[in-house]
Amino acid sequence: MSVVSFFCVKCDLDQDRDAELVRTSVAKFFRARCSRCDAKLIRKADDPAHDPYFWESKKLRAQRDKLRIDLIQPGASNFRMYYKTQYDKMQRDLEQAEQKEIAQRKERDAFYKKWWYNISTRGVVKHAIEAEEKIRSSTGSR
Ligand SMILES: [Zn+2]
Repeated sequence: MSVVSFFCVKCDLDQDRDAELVRTSVAKFFRARCSRCDAKLIRKADDPAHDPYFWESKKLRAQRDKLRIDLIQPGASNFRMYYKTQYDKMQRDLEQAEQKEIAQRKERDAFYKKWWYNISTRGVVKHAIEAEEKIRSSTGSR
């Protein structure tokens, strides 16, 4: 008796069971009974390539899917499907960064528009005052 992994299709259940190794004239297989429904479970012992367990087992399917998912990179077209949350967050962050930049640019433009007139006016006024002071000092000394 050795412990073998089985999958019961009826119960949709992965289970490790004490299995009996059965040898016939044509095949070698492990045999056990489902822990839930008592159905006969079989694993091919000499022909793993044709052992239904490998495509039936939920555990193995999940492991295969996980391996596939782990290989998907953010740029891949199927990335969005598997990593929806992360993808959406990345999209949101990008959009927020973009929006922030646009807002900052708008604010800056508005600031310049609002103050340009005042700054240039003040500059003109300053120059006018300076010019006037120059004239006054040069004429006042006489
Ligand atoms: Zn079962």
